Amino acid sequence: MASSGNGFFGYTGRWAFVDLTNRTVRTLPADPVICRDYVGGRGVQARLIYDHLRPIGPLRDPLAPENRLILGTAAPNDTFIPTAGRGSCSFISPMTRSPEPASWVPGHKPLHGLLTHSSAGGLFPNMLKRAGLDQLIVDGRADRPVRILVTEDAVQIIEAEDELFETVDGRKVARPASVITDFLTAKYPGSSTMCLGPAGWNGVAFACLTGDHHRNFGRGGAGAVMASKNLVAVTALGKRQITYADADAFQKLSKELDAQVKAHVGDPGWTASFRPATGTTWWLDRAFNGRYLGKQGGYLPWHNFDEGWFDPAAYAKVGTDAFLAISGKPKVCSRCRHVMCTRSAKVESGTYAGEGVRPEFETIALWINCCLTDRDAIFHLNRLCNELGVDTMSFGGVTAGAMDLEEKGLLKSYASAPKFGDAPSMIRFLEDIAYRRGDTGRLFARHSDAVIAEIGAGAPAADLEAIARCVLTAYGGLGYAGIEPKAFPGMFTAYGTSNRGRGDHTYAWTIQAEEGGLEGAEKLALYVASGQVGKALVDSLGLCDFFPESITTDLFLGLYRALTGFEYTPESMNACGERIWNLERHFNNIQGRDRAYDAYVPPKLTVPLTAGAHKGQAVNLEYYREILDAYYAHYGWTADGLVPPEKITGF
Ligand code: SF4
Repeated sequence: MASSGNGFFGYTGRWAFVDLTNRTVRTLPADPVICRDYVGGRGVQARLIYDHLRPIGPLRDPLAPENRLILGTAAPNDTFIPTAGRGSCSFISPMTRSPEPASWVPGHKPLHGLLTHSSAGGLFPNMLKRAGLDQLIVDGRADRPVRILVTEDAVQIIEAEDELFETVDGRKVARPASVITDFLTAKYPGSSTMCLGPAGWNGVAFACLTGDHHRNFGRGGAGAVMASKNLVAVTALGKRQITYADADAFQKLSKELDAQVKAHVGDPGWTASFRPATGTTWWLDRAFNGRYLGKQGGYLPWHNFDEGWFDPAAYAKVGTDAFLAISGKPKVCSRCRHVMCTRSAKVESGTYAGEGVRPEFETIALWINCCLTDRDAIFHLNRLCNELGVDTMSFGGVTAGAMDLEEKGLLKSYASAPKFGDAPSMIRFLEDIAYRRGDTGRLFARHSDAVIAEIGAGAPAADLEAIARCVLTAYGGLGYAGIEPKAFPGMFTAYGTSNRGRGDHTYAWTIQAEEGGLEGAEKLALYVASGQVGKALVDSLGLCDFFPESITTDLFLGLYRALTGFEYTPESMNACGERIWNLERHFNNIQGRDRAYDAYVPPKLTVPLTAGAHKGQAVNLEYYREILDAYYAHYGWTADGLVPPEKITGF
């Protein structure tokens, strides 16, 4: 057994603390106890952010230099474990900040921004590990634009070159993400870069970070946080390899696991079997008409979440088969095997001709929610979001709200408002937001409560209520994801309780279980809670959401022991997941989150669906309250959703 020379196996065992205000870098040994108790990736980052901000109390402004932005990896990254190419990015999110009293939300309390984690694949996470770091922790704010270069020799803060910027509308703005990436790749051949685009530079609340042209730390506004630090890009370059606690055992067990993943992907009874061909777009047909092992569909959101069903002929233009028709070869994350969900894509001709990658289900669903049924326009908008550094999902939520306002005549004094189903107006709206151009772009680049406050200033009470109804599906959170929230009470609970903010679908996913008949407040609460704990572990292990195996089997835990030397039982591994979840929630309690936030139901979601398999369904306030009670009881939190001190462990 030979470690990396610092006592660590699997991990590189090195954390770099970068202080941009003072331009200092300290590379320190990782803390083995934190690695054991918080696993890696997301868990370790939650702990490092908590330790940094606890003395400050609530961080009132996520764009202040005190916010901490962390990019990092986990022990399985860059090993033979399938899908072990996912990295973590954590920070306090500007999307989830609502500091002022908001009369349009009953029970509203100030919320200063939630601890947010975002996951991305591509090459960057594994390259960061090859460059010798588990975590890159960025504090402070540089006085001039800078970038960071991580190599095996050093972590350097470098003045950002003029080539990374251009002048737009008389202002200096970061260039599109692909231009920044290509410039830095030419300078450091073989490297990988994670950077912001114009939207991040311009402080758009839902700006993302983009790596390898199309892999994003998407949700929560990492791009805006990075820009607030005057940091444009992080480039990693290295060839370092980790050492294994027991290399022979790792080799044997990882081959076993690999064969298991391969068998499940090859089994048509498993949902994983659809991914190599259709990627996530198979969910389009399942959500609309029940194809692909589904029941009846009827939960693809339409017209700003008013409906879950619409004209099938219009749907056919943007369904699973429509996107299969423009799909090319696999274009997958580093170390992905078998599951391989991503494909290149090409539109051969017409206004939106071009090459790129096939958009994901959530992106397409939330743009269908804007009544957009033009596949080629969706492909083009997706490419544009990757260039401008805009999170596709939050953009979809914001756009649907703006379209709703426009349709109701509530945006009359704003030029260039987007219209339902109108691709050119949506493209213009995206560019206006990214460049904060014109009154419409400047307004919708901000958070939903700022939108309501500005449009509603001086408006009669009736108008204020109507304005709020249009945009409250994005209020104080990330905005609801691409499953119609009215159709599934369990999924609505997952949306409402996610640690990274209302509307998030990745921390728990209930659709298959609810379609299979799961119901009842306690059962739904338990299912959501165990999904959240499992996802905290998957993120902390550097694996993908689509890793089809359990991480608490003897096989996986044996493999993890051979990799790291850390010994876990299924119970102790689950305890790590609960520890991470509780710490995130506790931190968010300090930031102002409690039951009032979780319990909020946008009024339009209480209006029943009028068509489709879920006709008549809406969010039932009483039932949701019951599920929340059961959910808090399961975690041992107070009825107000506060984490008791004894639940915070691992210190
Ligand atoms: S399944 Fe898809 S997202 Fe997951 S690691 Fe593979 S290519 Fe990346």
